[in-house]
Parts: sequence; C-alpha cells; structure tokens
Amino acid sequence: MLSVKTIEDLSVHGQRVFVRVDFNVPLDSDGSVTDESRINAALPTIKKLQEGGAKVILASHLGRPKGIRQESMSLAPVAPVLASKLGCPVLFLNDCIGEEIENAVNSLADGQVALLENLRFHKGETENDPSFSLELAKLCDVFVNDAFGTAHRAHASTFGVAKLLNQKVSGYLIAKELEFLGSKTSSPERPFVVILGGAKVSDKITVIDKLLDKADVIIIGGAMAYTFALANGMGVGDSLCEPDKIDLAKDALAKAEHKGVKFLLPLDTLITDNLDFGSKKLGNSRVVEGDIPIGWEGVDIGPKTIEVFQNTVNEAKTILWNGPMGVFEIPDSSKGTFAMAEAVAKSSSLSIIGGGDSVKAINQSGFSSDVTFMSTGGGASLEFLEGKELPGVSVLDQN
Ligand code: AMP
Repeated sequence: MLSVKTIEDLSVHGQRVFVRVDFNVPLDSDGSVTDESRINAALPTIKKLQEGGAKVILASHLGRPKGIRQESMSLAPVAPVLASKLGCPVLFLNDCIGEEIENAVNSLADGQVALLENLRFHKGETENDPSFSLELAKLCDVFVNDAFGTAHRAHASTFGVAKLLNQKVSGYLIAKELEFLGSKTSSPERPFVVILGGAKVSDKITVIDKLLDKADVIIIGGAMAYTFALANGMGVGDSLCEPDKIDLAKDALAKAEHKGVKFLLPLDTLITDNLDFGSKKLGNSRVVEGDIPIGWEGVDIGPKTIEVFQNTVNEAKTILWNGPMGVFEIPDSSKGTFAMAEAVAKSSSLSIIGGGDSVKAINQSGFSSDVTFMSTGGGASLEFLEGKELPGVSVLDQN
C-alpha cells in the first residue's frame, strides 16, 4: 500500500509552503460561509505549518467558475472566517498567479498565512496546463496536498505544480483519509461489514468487487438493490434499476458465494405509486416483501430489513458505509437511511463513512460525533476504494 510522506517529515522553517486545501464551502446570497466544516478540517495542517515557521500559502477552488472570474465564487469570504479560527490575520490575495502575487507571497513573514483567490478563475487549473502549474510553482518551495475531495483529479494545483517541486507531502487530512480508507479497511478488525447504497450499481460495482476480497458481510440498500433483485429473478415494478447491469450483479453474487462473504439484500421494501421530488412527498405507499408490483417503485428499505441490517451492524468490529438506503431527501422515505446512520454511529466498532450522501445523512441524523471517521471525498473515496491511483496522492513523496 502507498505510504506517502506527510508534513511531519518536513522542516518548513522559512519555506514558502503551498497548501492545496478544500475550501469549496457553501456561500449564501450575501456571500457568507454557511458551513465551516471544510475550513475547520484544514486547521490542524495550517497550524502545524505556522508553528514550524512556514510562510503558508493556501490555495483552493470554489464552485465551477470554468476559467472565468466570478465574484460570487470568490474565496474572499473565507479569509475572515479562517482568521478568526486561527486567531491571526489571513492575507487575502485577489489572484493566484502573477508578479504581484509573487511579491506578496515573498514578503510573507515566517508563520504568516495568505489565501489565494479561486484557482478555477483560470482555465489552466482544471486543464492541468503546464504554464499555469509553472506560475503556481513560482510561489513556493514545498507542496502540501490536503484536499482529498480533488485528489482524484490531475489538476494544476493537485498534480502539475507538485511535479515541479522537490518536496511534496500530504497534510493531516489526506494522511487520515489514507489511513482509514486504506490501511484500516485492508487489515480490518473482523467482522468487517460494508454497507453500500445509492442510486446505481454501475457507480459502485468495482468497489463491490474490491470489497468482496476484504469484507465478511456486504449489505446492499438503495436503488442498487433492485438490480440485484432483478439478478435474483424478482420483479421490481417501476423502481430505479439498471437491467443492463444484471450480469455484473450476478457475478458479484457468485463471487460472494465463492468467497463465503454474506451478501445481504433487502427483505422488504417501502414502495410508492408516486415519487415527487418537487413537493418532497410520496403518493400512496406501503411495505411489500418479494416482488414489487408494476406501477410502484421502491423508495426505502422496509422495517424487517432495517432490523436485520441493524443487527448485523451491531455485531461488526469494522464498518464502512457509502450510499443511502433510500430516497432520504424525502422525509417519508428517509427512515432506512437514518436508522442505519444511528446504528453505525452507536455501534462500538470502528466506523468509516465513505463520503457523499452518507456523510450528509450522518450529519443530519445528529450522530456524526459518534462516528470514527467521515471521508471528505465523494468521488475520490470511491476511486480510492476501487483501488485506483489518485493523481493528487501518487504525485507525493513516498516513504
Ligand atoms: P449515490 O450518489 O449513488 O450514492 O446515490 C445517492 C442517491 O440515490 C440519493 O439522491 C438517493 O435519493 C438515491 N436513491 C437511493 N435509493 C433510491 C431509490 N430506492 N430510488 C431512487 N433513488 C434512490
């Protein structure tokens, strides 16, 4: 397994350290930051670098400005929030490249923090343009990646600039992601229970395949379960499913049997004859076991399933969860997801939430503090669990 160097392995005194953080925070119409969790998550790395006497240069993207400067996506509102959390001024620079920015960065005192403007105001960022990377590299001596959410992208600030520098390491956040999504799930305390849900089998089939080599139990919920139901010859009515992925589902079921991995599918399902995202309401709804009738679609796991899934979670020593058990955005079909959130959080096992909607569900459930680790990457955590190389990680110095 990849073992990358971290900021602990560096002496940064007097060095200009470029830190790729994830400050892609939500802003309200007044431009105020409405959720500070990503800023909080970056603090340990920033503080450590400050303590070490680095000149700290923070860089991030915010939204998708597509290479055009757009004030609504400026990182300026982040600077005062960060300053108050650090208890020191944060110098906001209104661009991320250019002579003026270079001069400003070069005149930083040791331990001082600067925040660059949104990297994606330049096309070169997402295009990993070598000349844009070179401009970024002029600002720094050392590269630190602490933005796991974009580590699966080879952008200028996650990959190109690092290639041009001699020292490139991970911050605490990425180190933690690699520890929990990597080592902790590679040699897990058993039983290791994996819970997968969400919309599509196709998004997660490679993850299922990889985890079948590691897990003792795989629990499947969400719309993904209906493709497995089809593979088992059951009727799924009008449920969201992927009939062209039935063979992949059959392969996974066969592999589970061959490996002796318990593969748990829903026993009962909450179905509705109308799913209205606009009004966030279901039409008529009821719970069925077995086939789902035509004209009805599955929107959540049923009460018997919740009980079986909860019991399985209670016996686990390691849990990895990715993807909701139903259409959790609608209150009447959110019960299964929140029941699992509670069970995972309250279990005494090591619990890892693999990013995306499951993190949202855990946060909404109010049990997030009881979870061992919540990944900050949606796509990145899935790609990592699939065993893919993440450019923003593989570019870093190895131990
Ligand atoms: P994913 O991004 O693959 O984790 O999928 C998350 C989405 O799956 C959420 O927006 C859920 O509403 C959706 N989802 C989960 N279960 C169902 C279901 N039974 N029918 C339709 N959508 C579902």
